Parts: sequence; C-alpha cells; structure tokens
Amino acid sequence: MATPVADLLARSNALGADPRNTNYAGGNTSAAGRDVDPVTGDDVDLLWVKGSGGDLATLTEAGLAVLRLDRVRALRGVYAGVEREDEVVAAFDHCLHGRGGAAPSIDTAMHALVDAPHVDHLHPDSGIALATAADGEALTREVYGDRVVWVPWRRPGFQLGLDVAAVAAEHPEAIGCVLGGHGITAWGATSEECRARSLEIIRTAEEFIDHRTAQLAARGRHPFGEELDGYGPLPDGERRARAAALMPVLRGLASTDSPAVGHLTDTPEVLEFLARAEHPRLAALGTSCPDHFLRTKVRPMLVDLPATAPLEEVLTRLPALHEAYRADYAAYYARHAAADSPAMRGADPAVVLVPGVGMVSYGRDKQTARVAGEFYLNAINVMRGAEAVSTYAPIDEAEKFRIEYWALEEAKLARIPAPKPLATRVALVTGAASGIGKAVAARLAAEGACVVVADLDLAKAQAAADEVAGGRGSDVAVGVAVDVSDAAAVTAAVQEAVLAFGGLDLVVNNAGLSISKPLLETTERDWDLQHDVMAKGSFLVSQAAARVLIAQGMGGDVVYVSSKNSVFAGPNNIAYSAVKADQAHQVRLLAAELGEHGVKVNGINPDGVVRGSGIFAGGWGASRAKTYGVPEEELGAFYAQRTLLKREVLPEHVANAVFVLCSADLSHTTGLHVPVDAGVAAAFLR
Ligand SMILES: [Zn+2]
Repeated sequence: MATPVADLLARSNALGADPRNTNYAGGNTSAAGRDVDPVTGDDVDLLWVKGSGGDLATLTEAGLAVLRLDRVRALRGVYAGVEREDEVVAAFDHCLHGRGGAAPSIDTAMHALVDAPHVDHLHPDSGIALATAADGEALTREVYGDRVVWVPWRRPGFQLGLDVAAVAAEHPEAIGCVLGGHGITAWGATSEECRARSLEIIRTAEEFIDHRTAQLAARGRHPFGEELDGYGPLPDGERRARAAALMPVLRGLASTDSPAVGHLTDTPEVLEFLARAEHPRLAALGTSCPDHFLRTKVRPMLVDLPATAPLEEVLTRLPALHEAYRADYAAYYARHAAADSPAMRGADPAVVLVPGVGMVSYGRDKQTARVAGEFYLNAINVMRGAEAVSTYAPIDEAEKFRIEYWALEEAKLARIPAPKPLATRVALVTGAASGIGKAVAARLAAEGACVVVADLDLAKAQAAADEVAGGRGSDVAVGVAVDVSDAAAVTAAVQEAVLAFGGLDLVVNNAGLSISKPLLETTERDWDLQHDVMAKGSFLVSQAAARVLIAQGMGGDVVYVSSKNSVFAGPNNIAYSAVKADQAHQVRLLAAELGEHGVKVNGINPDGVVRGSGIFAGGWGASRAKTYGVPEEELGAFYAQRTLLKREVLPEHVANAVFVLCSADLSHTTGLHVPVDAGVAAAFLR
C-alpha cells in the first residue's frame, strides 16, 4: 500500500528550502493516509507528522512521528480544558503507531484535528508580519477575503488545534488561516494542493507588504522611520575592526551566567534597522513568534550610541548597558514567575545590537549562536513588514513568559546532551594545516571547541579546517592564513578568530620549522628564519591573543609546543634548539605575567614525532636519518628505541597533552612543561 510519506517529505523539503516560507526548524507538515496494521491485517488510518526538532528543508522519514489518527482524535473526549492541555501532549505517546520515529511535537493536535489529509503549519516572515500587525484580523480579511481566516493568538497546544479545526470546519471555502502573533496554517485534499495553498498565503502576504512598502517609499517614508544621523553602517573595514574590538568585551559580559560562543551578523537588513529612528521602540517590543523569542530571549540588548561614537565611549558604556539588561530580565522573570515556574535560566542577552556595526548573537555552541542571529533577522523582517502595513504588536509579555518557562520547553532543555569538555571554548592553533598542529586542532574540535586553523597557506588551512570540522563546517572550524612572523598578519588572524566565534580562549603556538646544521654551517639567514617564526612568532601570537583574553575577562590558555631540545643539548642543532629554549622560557615569563588575568600558560616538549610531521617531511627527517645512519622510513622506529618506553611518538600524543593542559582537570596548573617523548632521561625536567 502506498503511504503519503514520499510526497510529504518532498513537499516539506521544497517548502523548507526557501527561507521566505519558514524560519530554521520552524513549522511542521503532515499527511494522513492508510497502511496495514501488522497486528490485525486490517487497514488503519495514520498521521505522518514532522516530529519535535529538526528542520523542514532536511526532513527525512526518521524525523516523522507516526500516529493512529483515530486515537489522536479520540483525545477530544478526555481533554479537560486549556488549563490542563499539557496532559494531552503526554498522551500522544499512547497514540504512536509502531516503534521509532520522532517524538510528536506540540503541534500534532492541529495536524490531526483539522479535517483535511494534508496540513502545513509554517512561520513565514511575511505571514508573521500580518499576524503581529495591530489590526491583523482586518488586514487578513482585506488581503485574502474568505480564503484565509484569522485565528486569534493562542499558545501552541491542544486548544489551538481545536481552534484551527473549528475554523476549517466553519469555513469550507477557506484554504488556511493566519494564527495571530504566530504564523500560518494551510490544508488541502492533496499534497500538491496543500503546498500550493501555503505558497498562495505566503506570496500574497509578501506582495501586500511590498505594495504598502512601495506606497510608503513614494511618500518618502520607510517602515523603520527616518534615517538617524550617525547611525548608518560604518565602511566595511572600519566596521569589522570595530566589531573585533567590541566582541571580546561583549562576549565576556554575555558569558556572565554561562560561557557562550558569539556570532556576528552585519547584513544590510540588520544595519538598516539600526540606522533608523524606530529601532529602539521596536527592539524594546521584542520578538513575537514563539520560535523567535525562545532563541533570542524576549528582547535584545541595544547599544544606545551612534556608530560615530568613539570606540572608547562604546567600550565604557557596555558594562552599564549589560547590568541594566540583566536587571530588566530579572524583573521580567519576577513579574511573571509562578510558584511552580522553572528557575530563571540566566539573565544575559542572547542578542546584542550595535548601530553601525551589526548584531552579535550568543549560544552554548556556534550553531545555537548562529541560529539565534537568524531568528532575530526573521524578527527584523517581521517588524518591517508589520510596520509597513500597520503597527507592530507582538503577543504580550505574560504570554511570552508562559512559553519561555513552559514545562514542556524545560523538558526539551533537559534533553540536551551534557556539553563536551571544551564546549564554548574558541581555540587558535598556528601551523595547523598539517602534522602536530592539525592533530591538535582535530582533538580540540572533537572535545567541543570551536577551532581556528591558522597556517601560512590559506587553501591548506581551509582544507584542514574542513577535515577537522568533520562535515559541520564553519560552526566548528575555520581556516585563516597567517605568517606568524608578521605582526600585522598575526593581528589580522586573531581578529578573524574573534569575528568567527566571538572571542578567543585557547591559543596553541605550534607553527615552526627546523633546519638541522652544525654551528659552522648555520647561516645568519637560517638563524633569523627560525627565530622569526618560533621565538618572535609565538611572542606576537601570544601578545595579540592576550589582548583579547584580557578584554574578555574569562581567563584562557596559552600552550607552547616547544621541544625536548629546549633542555637537551646535542650537536648540529644550534639554531633550532636555541629557539626552542627561548619558547620554553616564554612559557614561564607569560605564566608569571598573565596569571592575574586567569590565563594559564604551559608548554609541551615533544620529541621524535616523525610520522605526519610537516617538519620531518620538509627535509629535516632526511637530514636526521643521515646523522643517525638509518633509512628515513625507519626514523620513527629508531627514535622509539632510544626512549625509555620504546614507543614511537605520534602527533596525536602531543594533541592529547594539549587537551589535558586546557581541560578543567588542570585548572590550577601554569608554567608547566609536559614532556611527550616516550621517556628521554637526558631531557628530564628538574
Ligand atoms: Zn508554530
């Protein structure tokens, strides 16, 4: 028997692929149909509906909940009224057909109760603009006539399902409805009809908003009001530089309750909103669609200074604005919390707006931070649309609180897996396109860190970042080009790290090269090159990173990949070993200097890392092999035999040590060198 699943997935993916149709992970779709009940052999009526979580654009069969339609509809018989509607959600589990599938979402009732086999519930910016217009009901009638019906705001749940089903039954001519303060729902006899009706509702709303916007423009007006003097976007380079200067301080503030990763959005939509007169009023009203404010908090933190204000003035203003935001959020919680409300989840902003610069959004990982920014962008589109056709009037604060602190939302949060050890930490690893650096980057990413892979060659850095990210792209790792011996390039690379992830916590000075020569053959150039890259390079990287770490005020880690040769003396190595000793002492000097900022500085002394090492592949291996009189391919085994443990040292072993030094377990250790050399008595530290 053919089920409607294939058609439902195709429709869902097509609708979800266009961001005008619904926000990320917002909305849900369903199809009713028949299948054989394997228990009785009889036909059974089923509902396939997008489950909780997941995104329409990438929906697969595993993301669908499959329920017995007769049983979901039978819940009307036990429904005890809106005050106890959450109990019905628990009963959805008793309506499931078969095993597996996704957990039924709160919107399952709407899909099951509407008497049509195909239903779409979507969150299009244009539809929400109508839904949040002060006279949304009248506008809905004006725009759609009888084809689309207004349903007043009601929190998602069983009662909303009953409301929509009643509207559909009372208006057989209607193709769908606008849900006040929330979104749209459409239904159809076939999957194709349902899809076409969803698009009709969305496109008609878009055309209406565009028409009204054009009418305003013809009168020299804009939905967001007059342009404000000094609030326009800063020129590109200046804007990015200012963002990079503000973001470490903002991140430190936004991490007061729990550490967060940041995401910068400086698209024209955001900059235009912040450049016009109505933005303070609209920002204070907050977002409306439940999906929006669950991700963005009820309202953003707004920097109330023009783009033309001196940087120092903005930096000085931020702590007071943040304190006021926290007090305001705590007051919001106190105004609405009931005795059985969940505890306040933290009072820091999820979205910070900076006129002329853009928006920085925060989350427990990069994806969450990025999506919070996307949702506020949706909210900006909604506000622009609503203000073009009417006045933006989001649902009231008490309703927002009920949803934000809803027991069902609390249960969702409780299901989020425990964070990995380095979650929210932003790492910069130099020389990370290959060898030890790449192994370190991979380990830090695997432990939950966001990683900036820095290397001389941009293409190689980006390729390594892709590999390290394991398919999760720039949410996990980005590649940047840097010549660590060039101060301007180092500053730019650290700036890129800040712009990519909001700040910096963990720096690994790994970039290096090695030229093995006897004293009499070592040229001045050999000496300078090695000192430029390793001694000066790690100094420059530590200095640029320390500026960010100190501004953030969240502590941090600096790790030097030094060498056994920093303490061990042998022939034919004057330049390399001397510079390694320089780096080793930088560890102690910086540990002494940065301790007061909570920054730990430690080093690692590896030895004999041959396989996967860029240094060895670059001629050093051949040279060392010649010195020891062994074939180059046996160099790893040769080194292993010289060690106490008789083990070969691989890049992964060095990466393990970096992770341990940066983990919470070594929170009280600084100025330490950890040998990763399989045991070399002559290099024991004392
Ligand atoms: Zn919804």
